[in-house]
Amino acid sequence: MKPHTSSDWIARSLRSVWHPCTQMQHHEEVPLIAVSHGKGPWLYDHEGRRYLDAISSWWVNLFGHANPRINAALKDQLDKLEHAMLAGFTHEPVVELSEQLAALTGHALGHAFYASDGASAVEIAMKMSFHSWRNAGRTDKQEFVCLQGSYHGETIGALSVTDVALFKDAYGPLLRASHVVPSPDERNARDGESAQDVARRAIEDVRTLFEARAERIAAIIVEPLVQCATGMAMYDPLYLELLRELCDQYQVHLIADEIAVGCGRTGTFFACEQAAIWPDFLCLSKGISGGYLPLSLVLTSDAVYQSFYSQDITRGFLHSHSYTGNPLACRAALATLQIFKDDDVLVRNRELATRLTVALAPLAEHDRARHFRRRGMIFAFDAVEPDPSRAASFARRFFTTATENELLLRPIGRTVYLMPPYILDDEEIAGLAERTQRVFESVIAT
Ligand SMILES: *Cc1c(COP(=O)(O)O)cnc(C)c1O
Repeated sequence: MKPHTSSDWIARSLRSVWHPCTQMQHHEEVPLIAVSHGKGPWLYDHEGRRYLDAISSWWVNLFGHANPRINAALKDQLDKLEHAMLAGFTHEPVVELSEQLAALTGHALGHAFYASDGASAVEIAMKMSFHSWRNAGRTDKQEFVCLQGSYHGETIGALSVTDVALFKDAYGPLLRASHVVPSPDERNARDGESAQDVARRAIEDVRTLFEARAERIAAIIVEPLVQCATGMAMYDPLYLELLRELCDQYQVHLIADEIAVGCGRTGTFFACEQAAIWPDFLCLSKGISGGYLPLSLVLTSDAVYQSFYSQDITRGFLHSHSYTGNPLACRAALATLQIFKDDDVLVRNRELATRLTVALAPLAEHDRARHFRRRGMIFAFDAVEPDPSRAASFARRFFTTATENELLLRPIGRTVYLMPPYILDDEEIAGLAERTQRVFESVIAT
């Protein structure tokens, strides 16, 4: 029998697989890509065409596909323990990982609760916050606050603190209302305002809300430094510093959703470090397993942990997922953390990011690009497309043209962003910048 080609897999996929975040009918025009294998920053299809994975496969892959060190750790773990339930049992990978993450927070957040995907981590942080207040007799604290343009996942609870109309509007009747406060997005700067001024202005709206309603508010949830899914909205660390003060003053929990921005993405291991604060709950997922296996977790403080500690079962946190603390996923995470140490990744990323910024300079200065911006290993700019119909189709046209140029890039609206794995060599940096520019110029010209 003839080996399968990409077109075989594509036809079969379209019959049987319902793809995420996709209007399936669009695939009548836009082809799927059938990936046969990956190596380093490259994905390959069945005909050997390759694609530079400039968005780390939805922001999860940190050290390349088929990374030899993570592969070796997983193969070793596979012969020891693939999975065991975490209620009543424990195992080496989950203990090691929890200890290492606690140490990375300087033991400010020394208790780790596990799940499998980002949205579940957000649900856990919300439930824990509410329940912790309830255990303290503060049963009125039931409300949540999120930022304009926030994204925290798409399960019912996480969607209720998400402010992206495209994902949220259809499900409005199912969702509990949240308070939405203005984003400190530095692009909102008025004439003469600095990013810090925008942060201070945005904080005043939080203060007004807290003054009026803090007795009913359990927590405010933020994406520290970069609101990714709304289009890489970046803001000054001062916002987090001032928010931490307000949360202490008004007794509101702070939930830091570092699912996208954690694991070195913004230049420090946790984005919160740049504001020198710790939240009450820190959610991690995406990069933590190196992009290998579904894994998420919530780190929390001793104070929160102690508020559940009791003889009384109903005061406990009775939340569970079947694959909680899966040993293979934890082992992939441990291998990932080991690479951070062995390769001095945070330091090397600074050089890598500088080189990529230099290579992207022609795009930053392009007269059809606005607001070129960067935090750590996130690069973004907004395309100027004055014609509304072309603006509406910009992201799809860009994605298709990119794939024809060996590039995997999926703009968000008119925001083109790069979130590459941390392993690009000089040739790949140059190639990534050159391809991005070529694709951009072709898309705005046609
Ligand atoms: C991706 C993401 C989530 C949701 O994670 P899933 O694993 O897709 O459920 C939540 N918050 C942020 C900031 C994210 O980027």
